[in-house]
Amino acid sequence: MRTVRYGVSVRKDLDLIKEMRSKKYKCPRCKRLSIRRASSGIWICKKCGLKIADNAYSLSVSSIR
Ligand SMILES: [Zn+2]
Repeated sequence: MRTVRYGVSVRKDLDLIKEMRSKKYKCPRCKRLSIRRASSGIWICKKCGLKIADNAYSLSVSSIR
């Protein structure tokens, strides 16, 4: 199995992950755009303190409904 192209796709994924990690998400409780990634899989709202356990790198919309 050849893995020459693998490095490129990984780098792309890392960029995407970095972007998703730094992105802010809307809080389902206080409706403010203040949810940030606290640690892997943990998302916290800076305004009301709501804690959400979700994906490591992104917050899925379905989980906050
Ligand atoms: Zn909140």
